[in-house]
Amino acid sequence: MARKLAAGNWKMNGSLAALAEVDALIGDLDGGCEVLLCPPATLIAPMAARATGSALMVGAQTCHPATSGAHTGDLSAAMLAEAGATHIITGHSERRTDHGETDGDVAAQTQAVLDAGLIAIVCVGETEAERDAAVTLNVISTQLAGSIPEGAAPAQIVVAYEPVWAIGTGRTPTLDQIADVHAHIREELSERLGAAQADHIPLLYGGSVKPGNAAEIFGVQHVDGALVGGASLKAADFGPIAAALAAS
Ligand code: PEP
Repeated sequence: MARKLAAGNWKMNGSLAALAEVDALIGDLDGGCEVLLCPPATLIAPMAARATGSALMVGAQTCHPATSGAHTGDLSAAMLAEAGATHIITGHSERRTDHGETDGDVAAQTQAVLDAGLIAIVCVGETEAERDAAVTLNVISTQLAGSIPEGAAPAQIVVAYEPVWAIGTGRTPTLDQIADVHAHIREELSERLGAAQADHIPLLYGGSVKPGNAAEIFGVQHVDGALVGGASLKAADFGPIAAALAAS
């Protein structure tokens, strides 16, 4: 069995004032699952300080593949770790779209995360056109093969299935569609790493997860948690999502 993880991605939202949400969230955590928030990089250190002594973990949304050098504006995985990050998201569709990141780029970033001793949350997911063309599973296979580096330690990998068309839209796949993709991801990981290792890799669903749909999504086989965007900004939304995961 994989561990359960409720991960929040604040994207380019939040401020020091928004850290009041962290206090409220910490108060709600019951230890039934892992809970992680990935704020903008400027908030990692203050959020981590706020979370000290609690079960809340803090992560980053991306990193540069190099350890240091002439990369203006970028941050290395080790720098993010020093700020307090334990996890780094790689391959989010907004990075793939806004910054042209390829599977190769994602694999290099993921390797950097692993080298820094952190956990990578590797995102994969099809566009609406790809789903309509019935190539979702092929797209997922290609992204998985290309985005997870050879020799990656399974204990440092989390995979997030995030259909691009479900992110921030209020639309979600059917439970059967989520089940199909998650079973496929587990199978692909098993073929690559062996079932014993693959079974321990948390598989998250992401895309318009809300308090109202979380419990049914967490009831789907091979769904070990969620990567949550909009609904992670408020403790009043993210707390119940984490509670639904803990109870699943
Ligand atoms: C995301 O961006 O990873 C995401 C899942 O966003 P939302 O929950 O807002 O759809």
